[in-house]
Amino acid sequence: MKEKEINMELVPGGWVSTPRPAQKTGTWRTLRPVVDVEKCIGCGICESFCPETTIKVVDGKAEVDYEYCKGCGVCANECTSQAIAMELEVEEESEGGGY
Ligand code: SF4
Ligand code: SF4
Repeated sequence: MKEKEINMELVPGGWVSTPRPAQKTGTWRTLRPVVDVEKCIGCGICESFCPETTIKVVDGKAEVDYEYCKGCGVCANECTSQAIAMELEVEEESEGGGY
């Protein structure tokens, strides 16, 4: 049987270093991390712990890539400055209302 080719960059420990289009989160996330830039000190702890590599420190503040973030809350748990709050996703109402 022919082995299937997997297109992912892996680093030691099996960690996926770069998100790929196939890993986009879609609409199922229920919570999203929201960074309070006043509290964020840019330490990078969240970046180190995020299993999806979707939070990064840019210009001294953490930024989340919501296309790939799974809403797991690890970043919020690990932030020692309590700069990340997990907030409920709010669905946008479709035209005509309802399903
Ligand atoms: S762990 Fe907290 S303080 Fe550190 S960069 Fe992330 S959000 Fe900012
Ligand atoms: S909620 Fe999870 S996936 Fe999203 S940025 Fe935080 S650690 Fe990464």
